[in-house]
Amino acid sequence: MKYISTRGKSSAIEFEDVLLAGLAPDGGLYVPESYPQFTKEQVRNMRALSYFELAAEIMAPFTTGCLTKAELTDMAKQAYGGFSHTAVAPLKQIGNGLWVMELFYGPTLAFKDYALQIVGRMFDAVLKRTKRHITILGATSGDTGSAAIEACKGCSNLDIFILHPHNRVSEVQRRQMTTTIASNVYNIALEGTFDDCQAIVKGLFADADFREKYSLSAVNSINWARIMAQIVYYFHAALALGAPDREVSFAVPTGNFGNIFAGYVAKRMGLPVKKLILGSNENDILPRFLETGVMEKREVKPSISPSMDIQVSSNFERLLFEMLDRDAVQVSGLMEMFRYEKSYQVKQDTLNRIREIFSGVRCSDTETKAQIEKIYRAAGEVVDPHSAIGFAAAEKFGEKKVPSVVLATAHPSKFPVPVREATGITPVLPSRLSDLMTKRESFTVLPNTMDAIKYFIETAVKKDVE
Ligand SMILES: *Cc1c(COP(=O)(O)O)cnc(C)c1O
Repeated sequence: MKYISTRGKSSAIEFEDVLLAGLAPDGGLYVPESYPQFTKEQVRNMRALSYFELAAEIMAPFTTGCLTKAELTDMAKQAYGGFSHTAVAPLKQIGNGLWVMELFYGPTLAFKDYALQIVGRMFDAVLKRTKRHITILGATSGDTGSAAIEACKGCSNLDIFILHPHNRVSEVQRRQMTTTIASNVYNIALEGTFDDCQAIVKGLFADADFREKYSLSAVNSINWARIMAQIVYYFHAALALGAPDREVSFAVPTGNFGNIFAGYVAKRMGLPVKKLILGSNENDILPRFLETGVMEKREVKPSISPSMDIQVSSNFERLLFEMLDRDAVQVSGLMEMFRYEKSYQVKQDTLNRIREIFSGVRCSDTETKAQIEKIYRAAGEVVDPHSAIGFAAAEKFGEKKVPSVVLATAHPSKFPVPVREATGITPVLPSRLSDLMTKRESFTVLPNTMDAIKYFIETAVKKDVE
């Protein structure tokens, strides 16, 4: 399978290079040249597969020439075998036509483990095979960082640098990153917001000399391999509810648009996905876009669902590319406009096409807490603020005839304060993480400038090579 850039100015490359490159040199995002298609019969036959086998079945067409189905099955077993639920991504009925898929049984208690645990293994295998060394650089609003560090610690052929906004992630989130002490792991607390972190990472990737010299690579949600690994659980849930013979809708707490975009790809591959309903907090750039067709960036507001405190949903560019019939010139134009004017508008027919599949819901912190309380009263389930926004989204746009599956993206113990305020219950960390709050931390606070980060990386990598 070859991959092309949404901006059209980089040449097509193979999976192995997409895995390591992250962003395309022209600033675009890689997408497969075409989406593999499964027939109804093929989808029906997937019902018999374990999560590991299903993962290999879904991913193999995307990794041809790099990883075989057998290699993928092995990696999936290693990646998900240690998760603390045997179903890996269990589905629970919560109400009439309402289900929740719990995606927090990995090592860092958030859905990002589902992609990163296997993508880390892909990195390791490919780097060892090609005898290369890379520098992974990422920005995190909380959960990506710990999941990436957890997936990459101890990989001998890479160093990993993760920027998080200083004092803007929860203590549990910070500790999950900073207590993993490994010689190839560097935590940077940036004096800025998540968008500042993301802007610096993008800036360093855009610096061709720096990128080449340190073989920069990304594991944030712009990396295609992560999207690919996330497609699996959409199939997993829909199959359990009767796909391909029954449609299913998904409600997804959304920030960078990576998770929900995987749901869109699942639909393109033949899964009968009816609606994709995105939930956001007061950083509501996507619901506003769905109302008006104008993508307009505003200031980031801190919320009780910090992993969604984002005003630039990078992966939306992939959807735009599809909805503009893969017209890279138009995509580049809109992205340039967004960069300089902080806003762009799509034509009415493009917006209509997007609305046929996507709806969006915004939740204030007060509404989110009310939702947490409501779910607890109605179903006895304690959910985290991000997942609660997913429930709010399902409630607003779910249809009676089509089952709705809410993606629960984090374990409630990652966000104990709002959960306690809403329910009176303090969710406890699973026992395998019980020493988290007392472990030693290691991180460096740095000013919000590209140069400071550049210098830090240069010094650290040099030290590591010596
Ligand atoms: C990252 C994250 C999200 C947002 O996912 P995107 O793929 O960025 O849209 C939602 N909830 C939690 C708990 C997360 O960690």
